[in-house]
Amino acid sequence: MSILIQNGRVIDPASGRDEAMDVLIEDSKIARVAKGIQANADETIDAKNKIVAPGFVDMHVHLREPGREDKENIHSGTRAAAAGGFTSVCAMPNTTPVCDTAQGLQFLASRARDNAVVNILPVAAVTVGQAGEAIVEFGDLVYYGAVAFSDDGNPIMNAEIMCRALEYTSMFNVPILDHCDNVDLSKDGQMRSGANSVRLGLKGIPPASESSQVARDIDLAQYTGGRVHICHVSVRQSVRHVANAKKSGVNVTCEATPHHLTLTDAAMEGYDANFKVNPPLGSEDDRRALIEGLRDGTIDCIATDHAPHTDMEKDNVMTEAPFGVIGLESAFPVLYTDLVLTGEIGLNLLLEKITIAPSRILNLKKGTLAEGADADIVVLDLDEEYAIDPQKFFSRSHNCPFVGKQVKGRPVATIVGGRVVFRDGQIVT
Ligand SMILES: [Zn+2]
Ligand SMILES: [Zn+2]
Repeated sequence: MSILIQNGRVIDPASGRDEAMDVLIEDSKIARVAKGIQANADETIDAKNKIVAPGFVDMHVHLREPGREDKENIHSGTRAAAAGGFTSVCAMPNTTPVCDTAQGLQFLASRARDNAVVNILPVAAVTVGQAGEAIVEFGDLVYYGAVAFSDDGNPIMNAEIMCRALEYTSMFNVPILDHCDNVDLSKDGQMRSGANSVRLGLKGIPPASESSQVARDIDLAQYTGGRVHICHVSVRQSVRHVANAKKSGVNVTCEATPHHLTLTDAAMEGYDANFKVNPPLGSEDDRRALIEGLRDGTIDCIATDHAPHTDMEKDNVMTEAPFGVIGLESAFPVLYTDLVLTGEIGLNLLLEKITIAPSRILNLKKGTLAEGADADIVVLDLDEEYAIDPQKFFSRSHNCPFVGKQVKGRPVATIVGGRVVFRDGQIVT
């Protein structure tokens, strides 16, 4: 099986390549990237006036299977990923049951074989049942395919547990994906504390509930030599901590989400729970800090924290509605429209943050168009203009904070391991 992608503008941030080229895929690998390739391919894709880039890699996705298939499952979640241009997604372990054993990883792998259209990279829990009390069998779980560990959704409050987890995971050179939140400070909070939370009468979550844990876990990573990756950084003080830690050589990386990069707590005005996220949307100053962090390298990558919830759960009163928004199908157009077209960051930097940067953090041979690499590729049309409509998403859930937003840019073809899985709005199986 061979595919020839012709006439596209090839952008490969891993190599710095950005020029008009053809890409030849043979079997599951990238065979050649060159001008005017003559080949008798089984399939030809004309990418004239389009971008050809490595498939996107999302380090932070909640697929909800097993346990909450009413919100999302591997079938729907990976189709949403393909439609959004993502060819690899990390599956977070806060499922029911929690993915904290080899059995859990084997279940995920078997479900992925039958139902997934993109690569699923499993993340296992740091502690048994994500209860924060006993660490898991890290070596066993790495052997069975865990690419990282996380208690996302249940912050690890016990510093001694965090220390031991960092010590053990450092032996396998895998990161802990760290949801930093001091739950004593954030308890019962609905949004970021500040003038808006007071005005709206919603209990606030202080910025320090995130940044104080970021500071603690940076110190613990330095002490143990472990690798900590801070999830969904949302406040300026956290960005400051990470920047200082990097200067001192601490093994720390971090991500920001599309919603924290483009929205602020002012969005809570209409009491719409589709803006209720954890960590909460910050101030405009926080948002500026995240964009500056993308530019200067403090923020390594962008991850969606795709967190599906049913309409019924989100239509509830604010205090009852769960935290989280979906993001796979809106990430690229929203980031391209609000960060690239506004001149905040360049297209190549955006692509770097969603391809090679997360791949490096996870030690993956992904996120590149190098010859011999896995043929995970996305073709993007940057000119198409449309309004975001979650009813048209492949995701089972609709809790999107960008409903009706006018955007530009859309994946038109997604190729995973040399196979077209998404083309012109349709999943191809
Ligand atoms: Zn989280
Ligand atoms: Zn999450």
